[in-house]
Amino acid sequence: MMVWKAAWLYDNGKPCGAEANTAKYLAAEAAHQACQTAVLTLGGMGYAREYQVERYLRESYIPRIAPVSAQLIMCHIAERVLGLPKSY
Ligand SMILES: Cc1cc2nc3c(=O)[nH]c(=O)nc-3n(C[C@H](O)[C@H](O)[C@H](O)COP(=O)(O)OP(=O)(O)OC[C@H]3O[C@@H](n4cnc5c(N)ncnc54)[C@H](O)[C@@H]3O)c2cc1C
Repeated sequence: MMVWKAAWLYDNGKPCGAEANTAKYLAAEAAHQACQTAVLTLGGMGYAREYQVERYLRESYIPRIAPVSAQLIMCHIAERVLGLPKSY
């Protein structure tokens, strides 16, 4: 829902920084959780390299690290949405 909202705001030329950051945060966490559940569901076969799922888990870290981490997204929300002072 947040991805759609951010995309709609962007497509309509409206400010979307908070929504885009929120969407990126939620999508990254959802992807990571899904991969972790997949590995644990498949047990040893989830961990084994030849079944690919372990690669998805590793790659699900990418959107949690780059181009910005969850902590920096939270810094953005804190400053730009909640009006809190810069924390770093
Ligand atoms: C696969 C991949 C491809 C990449 N491609 C590119 C590319 O094409 N171009 C490019 O320019 N870069 C690229 N990068 C780099 C990427 O942009 C950085 O890795 C990313 O911005 C995180 O910065 P960092 O690695 O310096 O980690 P850091 O910023 O040092 O983060 C390390 C930890 O410190 C935390 N942290 C940092 N600052 C704060 C703060 N103020 N408050 C609280 N916590 C904080 C972070 O949340 C994280 O947990 C790529 C990275 C990867 C993994």
